[in-house]
Amino acid sequence: MTNKPKHRVIIVGAGFGGLRAARCFRRANVDLTLIDKRNFHLFQPLLYQVATGGLSPANISAPIRSILRRQNNCTVRMGTVTGLDPASSTLILEDARLPFDSLILATGVTHSYFGNDHWSQYAPGLKTVEEATEIRACILAAFENAERLNDPHERQKHLTFIVIGAGPTGVEMAGAIAELRRNTLKHDFRNIQPAEAKVILIDMADRVLGSFHQNLSAKAQQSLRKLGVQLHLNARVINITTDTVTLESENQTATYHSHAIVWAAGVRADSLTTKLAQSTNCPQDNASRLLVNPDFTLASHQNIFAIGDVINYPHQTGQPLPGVAPVAMQQGKFVANVIKRRIAGKPQPKFHYKSPGNLATIGRSAAVAELGKMKFSGFLAWFIWLVVHLMQIVQHHNRVLIFIQWAWNYITFNRSARLITNNAKKNEQHNSGNE
Ligand SMILES: Cc1cc2nc3c(=O)[nH]c(=O)nc-3n(C[C@H](O)[C@H](O)[C@H](O)COP(=O)(O)OP(=O)(O)OC[C@H]3O[C@@H](n4cnc5c(N)ncnc54)[C@H](O)[C@@H]3O)c2cc1C
Repeated sequence: MTNKPKHRVIIVGAGFGGLRAARCFRRANVDLTLIDKRNFHLFQPLLYQVATGGLSPANISAPIRSILRRQNNCTVRMGTVTGLDPASSTLILEDARLPFDSLILATGVTHSYFGNDHWSQYAPGLKTVEEATEIRACILAAFENAERLNDPHERQKHLTFIVIGAGPTGVEMAGAIAELRRNTLKHDFRNIQPAEAKVILIDMADRVLGSFHQNLSAKAQQSLRKLGVQLHLNARVINITTDTVTLESENQTATYHSHAIVWAAGVRADSLTTKLAQSTNCPQDNASRLLVNPDFTLASHQNIFAIGDVINYPHQTGQPLPGVAPVAMQQGKFVANVIKRRIAGKPQPKFHYKSPGNLATIGRSAAVAELGKMKFSGFLAWFIWLVVHLMQIVQHHNRVLIFIQWAWNYITFNRSARLITNNAKKNEQHNSGNE
């Protein structure tokens, strides 16, 4: 008697969606391969704390092999997917071709500069560890450069920080920079007063945190203003250069100088997604995300699924579900179950997203939280934010380390990961002001 070959499942992407899917196959009789171009899972919600020196990259990253070391049916492979041949059910990597019976794509999104991709060199977005450390270097180098400049105008340029996009990431970044300059760096310089640095937050909408209830947006705006963040709402960015941002608002333009500009304004799927969409005839939305079927399959391909940020899933509400971790994780769990039930010849369930709520922090002891019909702001919301984020950290020891780091930062106002570790070229350019 010959053994029936195991169902081969490939998951691409070990972010929130892919990792959850992989773990749901824990006890399944499948031959699972999890592929990622990185060897670690990244907890993106805390990237802004790396960008502002509160945490180190290793605190929010966990090696994929280590997470899955006890899952014997899963092989982890570091590699970059470059294409797909749906006719032969083969996934194409830079260095290999892998056959599959079921495929789950969970490759996430990248930044959208709305057709102005050249802005990315002046205003990095926050999506990877490298970008977080680049932003950290820019922010800290701006203070260093201001310290040695005599010309007050030049100095002010270095002491102006601009964040574009007032969604949760932009608000968290602006709040953290404001606290860095007001508390952490207070006694560190001799020629400048860090507290005098300007933090500007820009958005096209008429309020910050547009996905939250209006009252919570108003509370968040209040907290930001209390921290000294200047809000420019209803303002469209029309140009970014190496040290300027030009805004248009009510038919007037204004240009602001800064050497530390952060982009937190939009996302889109990458060029690989478009390639995969073309090879499967899957429609895309205007952010290039895949428009999947209600069971997350792509077009007529019943064995190819996509989940998480890379898709537009409008089947539940008529609107795409938000690009947040709980959506990706619930979709990962659902698709793993669909595959397992298919193998067992059982009927397919229907997907229904249950929102655990919406949270955003604005700084020390300030946050907003929407949990069902309940809405909070202030210390209670901040405490909920802390607990929820700690619980979501994948590895136990990282959870403990982050807890200790946060407690220390809270008591001392310190952010000990204030290292300028890369981006020497850009920092050199910034150094070229008059001394
Ligand atoms: C700064 C920031 C703050 C955020 N804050 C929050 C928050 O507070 N709460 C919340 O719920 N959500 C938050 N999010 C959103 C949340 O992180 C995403 O919704 C979630 O990561 C989506 O999961 P995913 O699995 O779809 O993709 P991702 O987590 O982005 O994972 C995609 C994976 O695919 C891999 N990959 C990509 N292309 C390839 C390829 N060609 N070959 C191989 N591997 C590839 C990547 O390396 C990555 O590991 C935040 C996001 C950011 C950027």
